[in-house]
This record gives sequence, C-alpha cells and structure tokens, in this order.
Amino acid sequence: MTFEPNLRLPGPIGLPPSVREAGGRQMINHRGPEFAAMLDRITAGMRPFLGTSNDVAILSCAGTGGLEAAVVNMLSPGDRVLGVSIGSFGDRIARIAETYGAAVTKLDVEWGRAADPAAVRDALAPLSDARAVLLTHNETSTGVLNPIAALAAAVRDIAPDALVIVDSVSGVGTVPFDMDGWGVDVVVTGSQKAWMAAPGVAMVAASPRAWAAMESARMPRFYLDLRRHREAQATGQTPWTPAIGVFCQVDEGVRLMTAEGPEAIFRRHEACAAATRSGVAALGFELFADPDHASKAVTAVHLPDGLDWKAFNGALRRRGLVVAGGQGRLAGKIFRVGHLGSVTVPEILGAIGVLEEASIELGRPVSPGAGPAAAQRAALEVYGIAAAARVGA
Ligand code: PLP
Repeated sequence: MTFEPNLRLPGPIGLPPSVREAGGRQMINHRGPEFAAMLDRITAGMRPFLGTSNDVAILSCAGTGGLEAAVVNMLSPGDRVLGVSIGSFGDRIARIAETYGAAVTKLDVEWGRAADPAAVRDALAPLSDARAVLLTHNETSTGVLNPIAALAAAVRDIAPDALVIVDSVSGVGTVPFDMDGWGVDVVVTGSQKAWMAAPGVAMVAASPRAWAAMESARMPRFYLDLRRHREAQATGQTPWTPAIGVFCQVDEGVRLMTAEGPEAIFRRHEACAAATRSGVAALGFELFADPDHASKAVTAVHLPDGLDWKAFNGALRRRGLVVAGGQGRLAGKIFRVGHLGSVTVPEILGAIGVLEEASIELGRPVSPGAGPAAAQRAALEVYGIAAAARVGA
C-alpha cells in the first residue's frame, strides 16, 4: 500500500502542495489586470533561469508545440537546416522542420553521447548558408546533457548567420543556462519539467535576431505565431484563451524557484543526479549516458540481460515507485529515473531503496542497504559534507 507514489518520471513531475492548490483556484478573467500581473511575474521570474533579457512567449500547448513554434516562426520551406540529434527529441524537432518543408541535414550522434562541437563544425562546413541549427539541451530520452555554450560557439564560427534553436524543454531550471551570453536565438521549455507545474504550457524565448527572422519566415502559422503572442503580451494578455489553471501553477512554481534561488536549485539537482547514478551503480546496474555529459534531470539505466522489464517495473509500481521506460529504439533496453523540479534527496533515497528491494525480490545479487548508502554518500559529497567512513569509527 502506498498513499502517494514516488513519481520519478522525467516529467510530468510531482507537484509541491502549494502548486497543486494554485491549480485548483477559481478562474480569473484572462483579459483582466490579475492575469496581466501574473503574466508579468512569470516572465520576469523565468528570465534569470533562461539567462535572458529577451521577450518570452508563454504558449498554451505541450512542449512539442513550443518546438513547432520555434520552427515555423524562424524558417521558410526549402531553408537549409542542420538538425543535431542525440536522441529521440533531437529527431523530433528535425522531423517537425522536415514536415514544414525545411531541407534538413541530420547529424546523428550515437545515443548516450553528447554532440561534439568539432563534429558540428565539420557538419556545417558544407552548410555555411544554413538558416538554422537545431540542438537539444537535455536529451530526456538518453539522459545526456549537451554542452550548449560550446555547440553554439561552433555554429557561430562556421555559420554565423544560422539561428541557434535549442530544445531545453527538460533542461532550463535544472542547470545554469545563459541564452544571451551563449548566443542562443530560440529556447523552448515546458511547464511540466523544472517549473514544477502540470503539463500544458510551453515557453519560447527569442533573441532580437530571432524576432526579426519571424518577419521574413514563410512557414505557415496561426495559433503558434509568436508575433501575435508578443503583441498580446505587451497588453498583459495572450492571443488565445490560455490554460489559466496551468498558468497559476507556473506562477507558483516560479515563485518557489525564485525563493529557493538558482544556485540552491542547481546544487539540489546535482545532488539528486549524483545520488541516483551512484545508487543504481551500487545495485549493479550500468549507466547508459556518457558520464562526462550525464543529465542532471534524468538518469538512463541499462536493463541488464535477463531482467524482465514488465516483472521489474511491476515490482517497482507495487512499491509506489514510478519510473519511465525507454523511448523509441531504447524501449525494453533502458529505464529512466527522473530527478527534476521539486525533487529532493530523500525522494531519491526512497527510489533507490525500492529499486534495491525489487532487485532482491527478482533474485539479483544485491546486498541490502548498498544502494541507498552509495546514493547518500554521493549526495553528501555534492553538498561538501564529509561522511564518517564507518559508524562508530
Ligand atoms: N523535448 C524534450 C527534451 C522533452 O523532454 C520533451 C518531453 O519530455 C519534449 C521535447 C516534448 O514535450 P511534450 O511532451 O510536452 O510535448
């Protein structure tokens, strides 16, 4: 029996109590002053996490809608585009661009690894007239964090006019992001990730160069036309009826994030990620992602040969732990433990404890206590707290 599941998905994430309450509020007039003030608070509160002073459009749609907005507002059919893909979400944004008629060249990186700036330079050499380069910040399907600063610099070296479009649906708010400093033109993020709210809102930040590009871009758009969003936002509104309940939650999520502060948030994510990696490794699992580029938001874990995913996942679910399976070609090969947004180290220790119990139940050779102990040591290390080598020593 469990009363509250330990929801360890890489989004949607478990909501803090005050965010849940915010979502249950009575509706407000989305053409009135209360909504206008909320919209202002949300965009102002998000800017430090995005590292930008640019306008941020808040759309009522899934993260994928935000990606589609980035594509259709920047590009014209026939535009040459480099799609750097390190996993399923890199494939998705490239597919969106293709769907609307862009001439996309893919740079496909082995899943589990980050993109190498030198490889991006080489791929761009014959494409120096590229209109845009599509990058994924945190690839949720593989648990890999791309080095966006270095990748954006590589793009600027070879194709200075190319717009740098970044899917950071699951990245911004979990690690530092400096849109303006890194020369990123468009960043997309989503409410159900670091912002600690329900799904349904996507945020798209665009540089002055990107806002200018919208004027000449010829891909069709209506609902997702960012110019309409900017115009409406200048009057404290959205062009269409917004997902008010989710906006209220994002407002509260951003308030909580501002109160905690970016540094503490990033440290907490680092501690939870390190604890997860050490915990699962101590249980004998192999990590999927290149350790030098491991995500702070989600850890992907190889399913060992002989461990039946259905039986294992059933044992986890009976104990109230909800993790994600593999996506696309990784289905049945990995599982993923989410640790973003409202996550705390004790929740990770609990998750590792359940992974340990289920492992023991299914006959894996695990010594009780090994997983949580390793996880706790890793978290303490991130916080700079020395653990005594042995109790009583
Ligand atoms: N991009 C990344 C990196 C994601 O993690 C996700 C969702 O998990 C998306 C895009 C798509 O977001 P949504 O499922 O809200 O459409």
